[in-house]
Amino acid sequence: MRKNYLLTPGPTPLPPEVCQALGRPIIHHRTPQFQAILKEATEGLKYVFQTESDVFILTSSGTGAMEAAVVNLLSAKDAALTVESGKFGERWTELCNGYGILADVIKVEWGKAVEPAEIEKRLKANPNIKAVFTTLCETSTGVATDIEAIGKIVAKYNAVLVVDAISGLGAIDLKTDAWGVDVCVSGSQKGFMLPPGLAFISVSKKAWDMIAVSKSPRYYFDLTVARKAIQKTDTPFTPAISLVIALVEVLRMMKQDGLENIFKRHHTMASATKAAMKALGLELFAPTASSDVVTAVKVPAGIDGEKLVKTMRDAYGVTIAGGQAELKGKVFRFAHMGFIEEFDIIAGIACLEKVLKELGYSFELGAGVKAAEEVFLKK
Ligand SMILES: *Cc1c(COP(=O)(O)O)cnc(C)c1O
Repeated sequence: MRKNYLLTPGPTPLPPEVCQALGRPIIHHRTPQFQAILKEATEGLKYVFQTESDVFILTSSGTGAMEAAVVNLLSAKDAALTVESGKFGERWTELCNGYGILADVIKVEWGKAVEPAEIEKRLKANPNIKAVFTTLCETSTGVATDIEAIGKIVAKYNAVLVVDAISGLGAIDLKTDAWGVDVCVSGSQKGFMLPPGLAFISVSKKAWDMIAVSKSPRYYFDLTVARKAIQKTDTPFTPAISLVIALVEVLRMMKQDGLENIFKRHHTMASATKAAMKALGLELFAPTASSDVVTAVKVPAGIDGEKLVKTMRDAYGVTIAGGQAELKGKVFRFAHMGFIEEFDIIAGIACLEKVLKELGYSFELGAGVKAAEEVFLKK
């Protein structure tokens, strides 16, 4: 028997209310019962997205909503601007490439955030750019992007601003309407505390005007069809009914907590985690731009990063994430989002300390836990 602690940047742990909701008998989706659920879910999402626009629920992983954004907004040979500051930014470029969209790529050193001025420079240089694809929290590096500043810039051009907020929404602030985000995409298994399987996408007026003339091939992710359906409180295809039912539970919890409290809690957990890493003599991968969503930490010299993650998980039941792509073995990522709380963080840090000791890293045992507790005491 083993108790498992999930401290990965997706999936994240499930609240008991969610597990219970998932265990309910299935109902049919073309019924007044499900319509009431769909309505509440759609309204609740608007609260979390901080938007008055429609938010659609898609049955797919988060990437499905990213694909929906690309194929609905653009046509082959259209110009787009993508920001690559990690693995998920690269996905925007790959999606554009897949549909013959000409992506102008801003390559940002991993661990840094894009300079908003660079986006303005590219938009000025190429007035044909129709969409700017960005990432709220680049989960591979832990870095958060200044979407508010980018929104102010993009609003002055004909382009729409698209934000992958799959890991950031419900953890850190993103004011979709106030910041001029035209299309915001998210997924169920990160800040939303649900299993994977749902994706969410909001669409502004400016984005709908672009959708009306775009010609990329699309069927399952055609938002015009989804819009017609939602006007009748319906979905074009069978939704993941049980997940939508659980989503309503989560949205009630989030509304009760209030966004401000949720963001504050994430900030405190992130500060405690970062303080613990410093106290252990570990270096943050992105010291100046590390988000409140996930913290990437450099694996110290002489320690096998993959073994560290594997031992924590397989010997002690604490799952953190390793590095992706070029960061494989070089960093570990400690998530503090969704249904994760103070003592999950403490357990995670205590386990990290134990395994670091076992692997021969030298530090004062308990220093990380102490530093984290001091942050929690002060909050
Ligand atoms: C997790 C994640 C994705 C991918 O989502 P899937 O649900 O795996 O398709 C995309 N972007 C970011 C920033 C993520 O954190």
